[in-house]
Amino acid sequence: MLSNTLHALARKDVLELGVYNAGLSDEAVRSTWQVETISRLASNENPLGASPAVQAALNSSSQRSAIYPDAASSALRDALAVKTGIAADCIAIGNGSEELLKLLCLAFVNSGDRVVTLLPSFGLHQLYPQLMGAQVDLVAVNQQMEYDLPAWETALATPAKLVVFSNPSNPVGCMLDQRGFQRLIDAAPQDALLVVDEAYFEYCAHLAAYPDSLTLLRQQSRPWIVLRTFSKAYGLAGLRVGYGLASDPLLVDLLNRVRTPFNINRSAQAAALVALDDQQHVRDSAAWVVQQRQWLAAELQPLVRQIAPSEANFLFFRIDGDGAELAKKLLAFGIIIKPWLEPGYRDWLRVSVGSAGDNQRFIAALRQVL
Ligand SMILES: *Cc1c(COP(=O)(O)O)cnc(C)c1O
Repeated sequence: MLSNTLHALARKDVLELGVYNAGLSDEAVRSTWQVETISRLASNENPLGASPAVQAALNSSSQRSAIYPDAASSALRDALAVKTGIAADCIAIGNGSEELLKLLCLAFVNSGDRVVTLLPSFGLHQLYPQLMGAQVDLVAVNQQMEYDLPAWETALATPAKLVVFSNPSNPVGCMLDQRGFQRLIDAAPQDALLVVDEAYFEYCAHLAAYPDSLTLLRQQSRPWIVLRTFSKAYGLAGLRVGYGLASDPLLVDLLNRVRTPFNINRSAQAAALVALDDQQHVRDSAAWVVQQRQWLAAELQPLVRQIAPSEANFLFFRIDGDGAELAKKLLAFGIIIKPWLEPGYRDWLRVSVGSAGDNQRFIAALRQVL
């Protein structure tokens, strides 16, 4: 009875929405599989953790827990303005960049609007538009697991409200270079909002081929926003801070109208501010990933069917068989990786680059189960 009423009350878009495939918690794996050591390789977290400066910032911010945080995250926006060259009033802070994706949909997407994004895709690039009743068109990567630019040009020849893609992509790791990026944004409808998700920016920023998206987008006369996060290379995933660098103060103003006023808690603001100041830690984190990713790819190569080229802190690989089954077998060894559940990619899995010990445990367990 009750559930009938709830079904009648709920919005149709919500009833039809898929579920985000979040990585499992240590506790869940420990209790189900009775394993001591857990290797967390499903959520692209930083194995080096956060900058050592973060702990002190958290200790001192906790003394003011009774006081509301700054609703505008002003200190953090000012620091990001200095760092990025984007004016503070063009910067939005989110409870993770995930929240910014949601705010963009709340502010811009009407039922029936068309949204174009990548396949395989970061789940929320699809789910949040669908929450608003959007029609989401997915552009698949090509056989080499790279951006299929001709397919993007075809998809973008039809009107769209939002064009959303991650560069490098999650889950694949493929990267649009300068020319590819230019080609894609040039193909996008002039009246679409471009959402460039650079969650893995810090792992590629040193590469000559990686597009300087801010410079290229500023040459466009259209709205855009570049999303980045403190969750990956800064190692603050547990505190939830992401930011958006936007074309126009009005875009940030529109996001402010739909966000919860105190969306970034006091500790998160304080931690992000000191983490931003420790660029050496970010460089060390990125260097670790690049070196360990090479090792991981070399070990993985003889064991699997295909590995996608990756410029991020994970590898996407294909096996002969079902990815979810393999992931489940690895759980018995305390290894958490992410099977890909989208149709067409069920023989693919994503493994994060972890600590040396975690990476070795993963390879050893994989040898046993395959
Ligand atoms: C991890 C990730 C995010 C989410 O980052 P948060 O700031 O933790 O919300 C956003 N986009 C992509 C593509 C990601 O991989």
